[in-house]
Formats: sequence, C-alpha cells, structure tokens
Amino acid sequence: MDSFLAWYYPILFLIIGACIGSFINVVIYRYPIIMLQDKNKPEKISLFYPASHCTSCNKKILKTDNIPIISWLLRKGECRHCGSTYSIKYLITEAVFSVVYLSVFILFYPQYGINSTICILVIFSYLYCIFFIDLKHFLIPDIMTIPLIILGFISAWYNFIPITIMESVIGSIVIFIIIFITGFLFKYFRGIDAIGFGDYKLFAVGGAWCGIFHIQYLIIFSSIFGIIFYIINKKANICSTKNISYLDDIIEIKDKVIPFGPSICLSIILNVLIIFYLPYKV
Ligand SMILES: [Zn+2]
Repeated sequence: MDSFLAWYYPILFLIIGACIGSFINVVIYRYPIIMLQDKNKPEKISLFYPASHCTSCNKKILKTDNIPIISWLLRKGECRHCGSTYSIKYLITEAVFSVVYLSVFILFYPQYGINSTICILVIFSYLYCIFFIDLKHFLIPDIMTIPLIILGFISAWYNFIPITIMESVIGSIVIFIIIFITGFLFKYFRGIDAIGFGDYKLFAVGGAWCGIFHIQYLIIFSSIFGIIFYIINKKANICSTKNISYLDDIIEIKDKVIPFGPSICLSIILNVLIIFYLPYKV
C-alpha cells in the first residue's frame, strides 16, 4: 500500500505546497491591512474579500490566471487587463513552498510518518508568514502565535514531535518568563523597550515546539541571527521604521529598531530540525 501511494505523494506535496504558498501570499499581504484597518468601516477587508484583483487596475484576476507558479510564468507576471507587473515575490513564495513541502515530505515522511510531516509543514507555514509580516510591518499577530503555542502542546501530547508534553509546556512558560524579565529589567534600568510583546509570545512558540531542554539554544541562535540581521540591515536597509506610526512611542530609538521576529523564526525552525535529527538534552 505504502509503495503504491509513494509514487504520487511527492507530486501531491509539490502541488499542495504551491497552493498553500499562493494562500500565504494573500495572508502576508492582507493580514497587516486587516489588523490596522478602521474597525468601523462598512466594507472591511478579509482574507477572502475582496476576491483576488490587480492592485493597479482593480480588475478581478481570472481563475485561469490564478494557478500557482504556472500562471505567473505563462503571463510573465503581467496583468491581463492593464499590463502592470505583479511582484516576483509572489512567484518566489509559491516556488519556495513547493520545494519545502516536497523536501519535508522526503526528509520526514519515511522516518516519522504523516503526522510529524504535517506538523513541520504547519509550523514552517506559520513562521514564514510571521517572518515577512514582522519584517515589513514590525507586527507579530497574536492570531498566529497563540494557535502555534497550542499546536505545539498538542503535537507533543500526541508524540508528533520528539518532546514530552511536560517539556513543551514548561519550555513555553519558562522561556516566556525569561524573556519577559529581561525586557522588564532593560526597561527598568535603561528606560527602553528592548523587545516587543509579540516577540515574547513567539519565544513561547519556540518553547512549546522545542521543549525546556532547548530554550537556551532558541535564545542563543535568535540573538546570533538578530546581530547578523542588524549588520546586514545597516548596509542593505532591508526594513525601515520610517513610515510606521505605531512605533512612535519609542521615537527616541525608532531609527535603531529592527524586527526581532524573523530571527526568532529562523531559530525556531533550526531548533525544530535539531530535535528531530540531533536529539540532545543538555
Ligand atoms: Zn491590472
């Protein structure tokens, strides 16, 4: 049965990856708009409303022009109606998801089974969204971190990830407290918000998915990634706080602020891979 399923499973994961990537594009683009929109507006934007449309001419994108990867390549990223180009970011995300979904299937499915494979794909998909939303908007939505913490507990409870439920729950609580106290002390002595509230919860996600025995590595790796990102951003100016008015309460350090979420996301992914492939408890 397994060998019969095996021949089309890789293709299935490749296609599912491209489709999820296409949806992730919508989430990354729309979710910050949804978070920041005026709650009293009569016509509110949601993930599904309005339907996919060209942001230049507002015309609806035909279903045949909305096939992940293929449509972008066939039309060379151009709108059928006005000829304006859609960003290559959309194509890249769909391609990345395709490749990652296939790779995770190949690396995890034979050894760990379908449940663990799905867990890895779920956390990757969520963290990809958080990575890019925080990178551009300096926001980490609770609607992404809170379910991820609960999913971490559930995955540990059912042994879909190689840590116990106790390691998961304690890891999540302890790392949250450590980061919270660090932030509090920084605020107390230096008067600066060293870390955003979304970052605390994102660290708690890491604790829930990697367990108490990995929280030191979660913190160390995210700090290293953070420093590397700070240096790269100084030269390449990847993200800027200039037009972000909701950071005005930290105006005195606003130009020095970098989003920490992307570094924490990379650290969580790295540590999740480590607990599967290099299990250690130190
Ligand atoms: Zn158009």
